[in-house]
Amino acid sequence: MSKSPKICSLSGSRFRGHARCDEPAEYRVRVILNTRRDFLLYLCHSHMPRSSELAQILLDRHIKSGEEIRIECISLHTIKRLPKLLENKQAGAAAA
Ligand SMILES: [Zn+2]
Repeated sequence: MSKSPKICSLSGSRFRGHARCDEPAEYRVRVILNTRRDFLLYLCHSHMPRSSELAQILLDRHIKSGEEIRIECISLHTIKRLPKLLENKQAGAAAA
């Protein structure tokens, strides 16, 4: 397993029409297709809510005409970034 931090998948040029994002990834998104193929996306906090939309964009690019491929399941995994999690907890406690 690589220890280098992942960067949001929008840091690349795979998503034309979307602003480039160089935020560190906080979520690993596994996209499983009806063909049993799957792929991974790495998303930062602000792009995580759009994971299904972004997965669909990638998928559309790879579908050859006539293929019936659709997303069957998207699973989100948090990539642990402990210092930040602790920070959030403290902020939440202060607000309560
Ligand atoms: Zn992002």
